[in-house]
Amino acid sequence: MNPDIKQALQDIVGAQNFTDALVDLVTYSYDASEYHHRPEAAVWAETTQQVSAILQLACAYKIPVTPRGAGTGLSGVTVPLLGGIVLDLSKMNRILRISIEDRLVVVQPGVVYAALDEALKPYGFFYPPDPASSRVATLGGNVATNAGGMKGAKYGTTRDYVLALEVVLADGTILRPGVGVMKCSSGYDLVRLFVGSEGTLGVVTEITLKINPRPRAVSTCTAFFDDLKGAGQAVAEIMQSGIIPSALEILDDQCILCLNQALNLNLTPAAALLVAETDGYTREEVDYQMSKVLEAFRHHQAKEIRQADAPEQAEPLWAARRAIYGAVAHLYPHIIVEDVTVPISQVVAMLEGIQALRERYQVVIPVLGHIGDGNLHPYLTYDGADPAQKELIKKVEAELSALAIRLGGTLTGEHGIGIGKARFMELEHDAGEMRLMNGLKRLLDPENILNPGKMGLEA
Ligand SMILES: Cc1cc2nc3c(=O)[nH]c(=O)nc-3n(C[C@H](O)[C@H](O)[C@H](O)COP(=O)(O)OP(=O)(O)OC[C@H]3O[C@@H](n4cnc5c(N)ncnc54)[C@H](O)[C@@H]3O)c2cc1C
Repeated sequence: MNPDIKQALQDIVGAQNFTDALVDLVTYSYDASEYHHRPEAAVWAETTQQVSAILQLACAYKIPVTPRGAGTGLSGVTVPLLGGIVLDLSKMNRILRISIEDRLVVVQPGVVYAALDEALKPYGFFYPPDPASSRVATLGGNVATNAGGMKGAKYGTTRDYVLALEVVLADGTILRPGVGVMKCSSGYDLVRLFVGSEGTLGVVTEITLKINPRPRAVSTCTAFFDDLKGAGQAVAEIMQSGIIPSALEILDDQCILCLNQALNLNLTPAAALLVAETDGYTREEVDYQMSKVLEAFRHHQAKEIRQADAPEQAEPLWAARRAIYGAVAHLYPHIIVEDVTVPISQVVAMLEGIQALRERYQVVIPVLGHIGDGNLHPYLTYDGADPAQKELIKKVEAELSALAIRLGGTLTGEHGIGIGKARFMELEHDAGEMRLMNGLKRLLDPENILNPGKMGLEA
């Protein structure tokens, strides 16, 4: 890095918050995906004013800046594809305000989901969109990817909870779109423009989030199905029964095999395992909802139905679901975690399409899904040392994405486009939409310094 720019960055954040050490640059070249590219330097910002000064400098010298939370992105969203500076927000990690009366919290972007959850527990409140990475992922990263989680079907995703933001634009301007109230119809919805923008439009430095009263009662159950269609029909029946489960997850036959092979879980071989949870404010309410789930399971020939009301009893029922990523990663070191989402009525068609891809290309694709909201995570496994396998898996990925779009779905329900899905953007977004997205990017970041090379936008 040019010594004058290095000095200017150190003047802004202090020498202790600047690094160009090789070990750090290698670390910052990765996220949780298979992509990587090394930056020239990384800085930890501690204040909004520092973020603004860093961006003014980067804008003047046309240096790429990639904002970063915990680096758990699954589609290369945080990889500094064109080098430049990684702007690490993890030190801006204070919860600034909890207002139960106003039903909101104000946080800095580096606050980890789990820390906010702990802070809200004594008040009997919670912030619902909980990604499986909640122990490490930051709320800034959650906002920038519009993160979801297991409770998406009932509670929605990050987008549904962000009331206001403080954002620093590429030229250093500080904006405060949105307001900390439950309703607002004032002007264009600039808050939503930044949610899910993957750090390409601005750097989020403060977040105001809506919170909910924490449910007081929970019930959990699991069931195995010999027939995928039967599992799909059970889900359809649950969704039409007048209740919304707080979680409804599916693990397919190859997930069950992986769990048995990697962890000796000794699960019954089956076409699918469903895990369902109902929650509410009274035991009666929760039991009523669970009775609808159990009814649907029985109608569709589920076997080994197990149910638990107390959290300690529910823990073993969640074991397979919680362990699946580790089990697949243990057996297959190279995985592309897909994130296609289709209308709930098309989930079985999507699962059957994935089975057909497995057979046609002879690849192992275990599928975990938030079936209650149509969001599936096929794990595309391959041997990264074999160029032919790498090419093959890219072909499988392209067919999978095209199928999701044909079924009326989207490329990504919660992980974002990043690098991985950039080549498929035009499958989902027509020329008019792409023109508008490119125009917005040019308007807010004319020098294209913010996380460039992502989302299939013009270079
Ligand atoms: C095991 C595992 C399980 C996962 N489960 C889920 C899940 O259930 N649901 C889900 O949605 N995701 C999941 N993810 C993906 C990932 O955790 C989410 O995308 C998460 O929101 C990323 O947060 P992060 O702090 O790691 O952000 P990073 O990965 O560091 O960044 C993600 C994106 O946000 C941008 N960004 C970060 N901070 C800011 C900021 N302050 N301002 C502007 N842009 C910013 C980055 O530039 C990048 O584009 C999982 C990942 C793993 C590894």
